[in-house]
Amino acid sequence: MGQGLSCNPTHDHHFFRAVQTGDLESVECILRSEPSIIHHTTAYERLSALHIAAANGRVEVLCLVLDRLVKPDLLNRNKQTPLMLAAMHGKISCVQKLIEAGANILMFDSLHGRSCLHYAAYYGHSDCLQAILAAAHSTPVADSWGFARFVNVRDGNGATPLHLAARQRRPDCVHFLLDSGALVCASTGGYGSPGSTPLHLAARGGCLDCVRELLAWGANRLQRDLSGRIPYNVALKRNHRACAALLNPTSAEPLVWPSPIKFISELNSDAKILLERALMEANRTRENNILKETTCLSPSPSHSDEATNDDVPENETDLCCICFDQVCTLEVQDCGHQMCAHCTLALCCHSKPNPVTSCMPSPVCPFCRSNIARLVVAKSRDEEKDKENQSKSKRGPRRSRNLSEGSSSFKGLSSAMGSFGKRGSGRVADEPIDKP
Ligand SMILES: [Zn+2]
Ligand SMILES: [Zn+2]
Repeated sequence: MGQGLSCNPTHDHHFFRAVQTGDLESVECILRSEPSIIHHTTAYERLSALHIAAANGRVEVLCLVLDRLVKPDLLNRNKQTPLMLAAMHGKISCVQKLIEAGANILMFDSLHGRSCLHYAAYYGHSDCLQAILAAAHSTPVADSWGFARFVNVRDGNGATPLHLAARQRRPDCVHFLLDSGALVCASTGGYGSPGSTPLHLAARGGCLDCVRELLAWGANRLQRDLSGRIPYNVALKRNHRACAALLNPTSAEPLVWPSPIKFISELNSDAKILLERALMEANRTRENNILKETTCLSPSPSHSDEATNDDVPENETDLCCICFDQVCTLEVQDCGHQMCAHCTLALCCHSKPNPVTSCMPSPVCPFCRSNIARLVVAKSRDEEKDKENQSKSKRGPRRSRNLSEGSSSFKGLSSAMGSFGKRGSGRVADEPIDKP
């Protein structure tokens, strides 16, 4: 591997110390007088200068050393690359530099058979995780392995990065991995209890945020590990009461991100953020109700999302015409009808697969019943002011301001779901949307 043995321990010590502290001047000076020292490694761990720079986030030293090396994938005692160490320690600029220099993202150490993606997930460095995932789109890995396979790469014990992130209580990493196509119900080989899913491991770690993310991506509360336990049993055993309440199969089902719908998978990032936020808010409200019921705690102030909801519109012209509660933030392209994110979500989450074809039907616009090809962020009122006179009927018909139905997002959502059937005779649509 080109890792020469040290011939002058004192020299080496000075060199590695300078690399570790980021003393660029000394590193340059030593390299000038003794160029071969770049191939030396520490005595026990067999760390190269590149490993030390990467682990300590010394990006300038890293660049200097990279310039003098043929390839960046040196191996230490445990066959770990500098990229793995940078991902482990969350040194994002080093991760980026190493990837730019052609570091291989698909190498496995001899300790647990883990890749750099496993390490970023395990230690919860979501910025490094995203950089590695971005690289997986453009490097040869994508061609040889395929991106989906890389996201779900397994370590020596059969754990995917998602398993590790869920176990180590890393909700941000859980989110980005799921968003990149990590399989939510994959079971491990030997990691944790054999046959554990990410939900089992999140239950074991007791991280409510991870449990919430996984459920919102469709994790199955009834999937058993090899010893027959469902995630609920695991949370109970570890005494994670709040997690157990959400994982209890008899608790209300959370809303699941409607990923099979085509226009949902094609959302632009702004529209996606709005819908994701609506999903999390709706589920959090459900959660609060579950937790109140199951723990019999008096509702504490921190539990009342409802009171802190500041989305109450100032002007009724921006009100969503389905719930009359939230502001319109999303627009159906082509017909131009607008709704709030909560109602859009309710519309998508309540389309049930066709029992005959088991296809997910694509929801139609609740105002004109045209097919929704694309959802975009609604234009703000200021932008629309000019057009308002010309296209007064663009938004759905309005009713007088009606905030009396409650201003919480949950009430908004439930009334939105109810309104598809109950308010059919109203002015929202001429025919009931939810025809039996
Ligand atoms: Zn609405
Ligand atoms: Zn429409």
